[in-house]
Amino acid sequence: MTAQIIDGKAFAAKVRAQVAQHVAQMKQAHGITPGLAVVLVGEDPASQVYVRSKGKQTVEVGMNSFEHKLDARTSEADLLALIAQLNADPAVHGILVQLPLSGHLNEDLVINAIATEKDVDGFHISNVGLLATGQKAMVPCTPLGCLMMLRDHHGSLSGLNAVVIGRSNIVGKPMAQLLLRDSCTVTVAHSRTKDIADVVRGADIVVAAVGRAEMVPGDWIKPGATVIDVGINRIERDGKAVLVGDCDFASCAAVAGAITPVPGGVGPMTIACLLANTLTACARANGLDEPQGLTA
Ligand code: NDP
Repeated sequence: MTAQIIDGKAFAAKVRAQVAQHVAQMKQAHGITPGLAVVLVGEDPASQVYVRSKGKQTVEVGMNSFEHKLDARTSEADLLALIAQLNADPAVHGILVQLPLSGHLNEDLVINAIATEKDVDGFHISNVGLLATGQKAMVPCTPLGCLMMLRDHHGSLSGLNAVVIGRSNIVGKPMAQLLLRDSCTVTVAHSRTKDIADVVRGADIVVAAVGRAEMVPGDWIKPGATVIDVGINRIERDGKAVLVGDCDFASCAAVAGAITPVPGGVGPMTIACLLANTLTACARANGLDEPQGLTA
């Protein structure tokens, strides 16, 4: 069997086009422009690339982008003061603080200072609780992107066995919650899981969010299963730097029914879902209908 490739780049372009259409409509019908504020502390090169890309895509879908680049030595009090200012700003519907933050800043404190309804990353403890209890939440972008691709491929996920490998707060745990909410039978595997190969072999859906290059071989995959590879790992191959996922693509694609590639799978969906979340936040803030198909 050769798996169908789930093209995340094309899917993300479709999501962005839908977002842009809603934004145009919102502007025309209500005179409202959704706005996303991104806060970057310090000069980490990878974070700078992400922030630039987020800003560019925000503007491309017709939203306002507010970038706040702060010095690496910015104090926690100054960062919290900026967040308070953004919380109070009616032109800002989404706030994202680029992680990781440097050691002198308390990440939990900073994230939990963002107004729940503007927390477009979905990391605020209130949003975590709302998601866990099946209430209307802001949902973390990467798992939301995975869910959209899974729903698109399967239609209903009800009754399917899903194994999520990884239990981080940003991917593994919210992914498990979302799959549970869509009535999958969910198992979360992690570094202490016994006989992980056997656990994964029972899955109709495998979501790998580990951060270990090509850890999942094809013989862990049930024939016909759907494999969502969240991992982004930089390795050297034949003297060249390449990006690979947490799954061994060639052997998994030979067994799976469908698989996301790395790059070009989950990665592009993350920013597309950030824009979708900003649109949702703006619609909720203004008492408008939420965009269909762009939320969990
Ligand atoms: P974390 O390091 O926070 O979590 C990794 C998880 O993997 C942990 O729960 C850990 O278990 C588990 N793990 C580690 N080793 C093993 C093992 N040998 N067997 C089973 N489980 C293991 O990573 P993130 O969740 O933040 O990210 C995971 C990957 O996804 C990374 O490659 C990251 O770059 C990528 N990523 C991609 C995004 C995208 O946009 N495509 C967005 C976010 C992340 P334990 O808890 O027991 O330590």
